[in-house]
Amino acid sequence: MLRTFAAIVLKASPYAEGSAVVSFLTEHGERLSGVAKGIKKPTAKWVAAFEPLGMVQVSFFGKEQADLKRITRCDLRFSPLTLGHLESSLVMACLADLFDRVAREGVEDERLYRLLSACGRALKAHPDNALGILAYAEHWLLHCLGLLPHPRTCGRCGREDAPLALLSEEQGWCCTGCTAVDPSEALPPGAREHLRRLRTAAAEEAPRVDPADEAQRAVTALLRQRLLRELGGSLRSYDVLWRLV
Ligand SMILES: [Zn+2]
Repeated sequence: MLRTFAAIVLKASPYAEGSAVVSFLTEHGERLSGVAKGIKKPTAKWVAAFEPLGMVQVSFFGKEQADLKRITRCDLRFSPLTLGHLESSLVMACLADLFDRVAREGVEDERLYRLLSACGRALKAHPDNALGILAYAEHWLLHCLGLLPHPRTCGRCGREDAPLALLSEEQGWCCTGCTAVDPSEALPPGAREHLRRLRTAAAEEAPRVDPADEAQRAVTALLRQRLLRELGGSLRSYDVLWRLV
């Protein structure tokens, strides 16, 4: 049985001789993987088609229940890659890693495809905002996982006017009106406003990283930590990013 999808390439790992297992996020938001042969003696076109975050048209061949389907065709339609832009390439690897963990075989979540394609297009348009786009994606991934309550009201007392103090796993965002926290550990003023910017901006307008913005720095660190913990710890792509950026 042959099935064809619009999809985004996630990761390619070496498999049996001359081939690779490649995972994709399909247009329906499902993770699918298959074997691509001929990677060892490849044509340039065939290799470019398996670049992380490349938007492709891919065909799988194999029985519905087969563990590993064969990739019979993969055509690159859009690449978010900006040659020579290290930061943007490293962020692409992080995004591929994140979505490879979050997306599941047999589970469709179209929001994941919409989010990742928007981030890919934003990266192509603004490679110099790669870190801002990564933080934007992390925020929405937490939302898709159901781990990010709305920041408008305090999850403990329901107030809307007191600044946010912390994010608790049981009660969500808690405000300074009801939650006593050591000032050095509380979120800086402006955290709720930064969360609002993340919620309302399109990926192309993802807030730029501003080292002077303490609220942004704290929210980014908090959400990143929460997401990586959910995914079982740090990812190799992140370690590489922090070593080089
Ligand atoms: Zn409260």
